[in-house]
Amino acid sequence: MPVSNCKGEFIGAYQAINKIGNDGKFDIDEDCRRLSLAAFICGITLESETFLDDSRHDKLTELKNRMGFYSDYNDKYSKLLTDEEIPHNISLFICDIDFFKKVNDTYGHNAGDAVLKHVADIFRKNCRICDGVYRWGGEEFIVILPDTDINKAADAAERLRTLVMNSVCHFEELDIKVTMSFGVTQLTPLMSVEDNIKEADEKLYKAKESGRNCVIV
Ligand code: GH3
Ligand code: MG
Ligand code: MG
Repeated sequence: MPVSNCKGEFIGAYQAINKIGNDGKFDIDEDCRRLSLAAFICGITLESETFLDDSRHDKLTELKNRMGFYSDYNDKYSKLLTDEEIPHNISLFICDIDFFKKVNDTYGHNAGDAVLKHVADIFRKNCRICDGVYRWGGEEFIVILPDTDINKAADAAERLRTLVMNSVCHFEELDIKVTMSFGVTQLTPLMSVEDNIKEADEKLYKAKESGRNCVIV
């Protein structure tokens, strides 16, 4: 929670506590006790907000994680998708680093971690501010693109695929290159979020079957 919001929490907590048996007079001991209690409540609120924020982020890449995705989906994207006044096209792609196990096996787990951070940076820097970029798990990422039809989403996926393919991850003395496979879908409000993701996942599976380093729409 932003610190500025905490001021409101503090005043609210103090006022709430003050309602309990306040005779309207200034009493240094009693007021200190009440203020301490208000500060304590404030601290707990701040701590739980921080805890919640941590639980929605991936420590390694600093991207939002799967929990962050579902939270954003419920808060933002599902509302856009079911907006009856303004129709919104929302697309999504799921993508996976090719032969990532080989990177770990050849160069070690720390090098694999560096590759994950490298790919996350490319995604972060090359997606729009309105797009949601998430580490879905392992070496898989999801990007959700509001107000984007499937053709535009395929273009965005193709651009990222090319950027990753042409990039080099420098780790210690090593120069590591990877490619990625992508599955793209346009979300439909007729299906659950899980089924929409399953559609994209099936395309990703096809991309792997087709030889990897490609985008399947
Ligand atoms: P494919 O092209 O079919 O996707 O092959 P792959 O080797 O990328 O896929 P596979 O599922 O066989 O291996 C994924 C590997 O990713 C195995 C797992 O140890 C590794 N991995 C998952 N999370 C992390 C992580 O946080 N750091 C590192 N270094 N490796 C991870
Ligand atoms: Mg993989
Ligand atoms: Mg995988």
